[in-house]
Amino acid sequence: MRIIVCVKQVPDTTEVRIDPKTNTLIREGVESILNPYDQFALEEALRLKAERVDVKVTVLSMGPPQARKVLLKSLALGADEAVLLSDRAFAGSDTWATSIALSGAVKEMGDADIIFCGLQAIDGDTAQVGPEMAQLLDIPQLTYAERVSLTHDLKVRVEQQMEDGSRVLESETPVLVTCVPPPSFVPKVPPMPGILKTKSKPYKVWDSKKIGADPSDLGLQGSPTRVRRTYSPPPRGEVTIIPGDAREASRSLARILMDRNIVGGVD
Ligand SMILES: Cc1cc2nc3c(=O)[nH]c(=O)nc-3n(C[C@H](O)[C@H](O)[C@H](O)COP(=O)(O)OP(=O)(O)OC[C@H]3O[C@@H](n4cnc5c(N)ncnc54)[C@H](O)[C@@H]3O)c2cc1C
Repeated sequence: MRIIVCVKQVPDTTEVRIDPKTNTLIREGVESILNPYDQFALEEALRLKAERVDVKVTVLSMGPPQARKVLLKSLALGADEAVLLSDRAFAGSDTWATSIALSGAVKEMGDADIIFCGLQAIDGDTAQVGPEMAQLLDIPQLTYAERVSLTHDLKVRVEQQMEDGSRVLESETPVLVTCVPPPSFVPKVPPMPGILKTKSKPYKVWDSKKIGADPSDLGLQGSPTRVRRTYSPPPRGEVTIIPGDAREASRSLARILMDRNIVGGVD
């Protein structure tokens, strides 16, 4: 069985600031990390691999050469091989052009049974790439997967997160699964033996010719969407920070709300 996990390098959004003049992200000096949703997807894939002997896990990323860092981390966590799509032809891709490139690479690999994506990337945040890839590959998709398993007859079963609970869905392979980590998810740190093994694992860099895509479908040329303007919403007035532990702070908050006649006088 072959599993492909799409992993994206993203800026650590806890560190990102907006340039007030240009209203664009200040990326300089901001650490890049493996998109947390993708690390969860990878860990689900590696768990399936641990349960069966005949599973090969390939990690796939599209990005500049620096994206190597997240692929090496994925190899150190246990993936078997890595493919980086890196070429000027991919620059400026919107979600559609990104999906064309990634699904082109999946087709080039040829024999994927499960394609894992994160539900969304924490920078772009569109959650479009997984479903678009499923459409382009003409395969079913299981979205919002919190837990993934294989049935005895090798169907893919997921627990799908819903607003008011969860439900269990199954699909034949090939299938694309988008993953969402449960609140309790703590990403693993690559173990030292895993880090040492990365050097012996295949690491390939593919350009646009390798995936046989039409150049007019890639990059800015192939992107039907354009970002016309980005801006930060204006501040919404003064903020009062209420100090103290939860009990103390909630009493203070209740007092403030009562003083302003927003709630009635129960102490
Ligand atoms: C007009 C336009 C121009 C753009 N130009 C640029 C640009 O020049 N440079 C730039 O960095 N961004 C650019 N972007 C942003 C870029 O389109 C998105 O980063 C990309 O399409 C992925 O979308 P997303 O981040 O919303 O992913 P989502 O759809 O939220 O991601 C879902 C999942 O898809 C997979 N995935 C997504 N992207 C990748 C990837 N690259 N590699 C592997 N897996 C992936 C991951 O598993 C991820 O969890 C541009 C966007 C637009 C609209």
